[in-house]
Amino acid sequence: MRLWSVPAALLLLVAGGCASPVALTGSVVEPMAAPSPAPPAVPPPATPSPFDPEELASKLTGIQPQWPKNSFPAAPAVRKLDCRRIRCVALTFDDGPGPHTARLLDILARHQARATFFVIGQMVAEDRGENLRRMVSEGHELGNHSWDHPPLTQLSEARLKYQLRSTQKIVKRLSGVRMTLMRPPYGSTDGRVAAETRREGLAQILWNVDTLDWRDRESSIVTQRATQAGPGSIVLMHDIHGTTVDAVPAILDQFARRGYAFVTLSELYGRARLTPGRRYTSYADR
Ligand code: ZN
Repeated sequence: MRLWSVPAALLLLVAGGCASPVALTGSVVEPMAAPSPAPPAVPPPATPSPFDPEELASKLTGIQPQWPKNSFPAAPAVRKLDCRRIRCVALTFDDGPGPHTARLLDILARHQARATFFVIGQMVAEDRGENLRRMVSEGHELGNHSWDHPPLTQLSEARLKYQLRSTQKIVKRLSGVRMTLMRPPYGSTDGRVAAETRREGLAQILWNVDTLDWRDRESSIVTQRATQAGPGSIVLMHDIHGTTVDAVPAILDQFARRGYAFVTLSELYGRARLTPGRRYTSYADR
């Protein structure tokens, strides 16, 4: 199966979730005090994509932004917030951009909320950068979620590098952004992944609140799980699911009533700064 011939619908199935076995046994919200990296979930059923850097290079060259060269959107400044003193929550959305992403961006804009999007390179290629440009200009942060969502711990070093680099490359090409964050698909990481992400200048961002929104496609459940987050939490959601996007207005309302600021990952850590290769699951890991 050639990398670029995977239909979007199949990709959505493959990219279905960042589940962790811990969460599946019922421990939905992990306390901030004990951030434990999510162990790998069951690998996807897909055949691994053939590793062909030359083919990828030619495909990437073929994808051109539909706007003049170097006319990338200007990002608003990263806000100086002290998350030691105020309540911050980092909402994160994985596996897109997809058909529901524009609607999610509208909702976030209405609430003046910022979030972080861990994007899949192949989804970015299909999107042609439209949602990416909005994310950047509306103050959201972008993170690398691999090219096509394999469990990174099972890849050779060459394939691992390819998964990260190709996604860096297409996001840079279509938005002008050099990402400094990544999230391993399924939370599957180890020493090799850490070393490679360090070389690529990417901090590894896990989570401490899992909404399991890929499994339970019911907005009220997603809202209930997300809003269990405490100050400094990183909440895992997926913008490829309509039910998740439907849940976001209530999530934002409930957090806002409790006085929370909706921050990107870089805003959450602020001056503590994120170190490439290191793993983070909440603000406690600084
Ligand atoms: Zn994912």
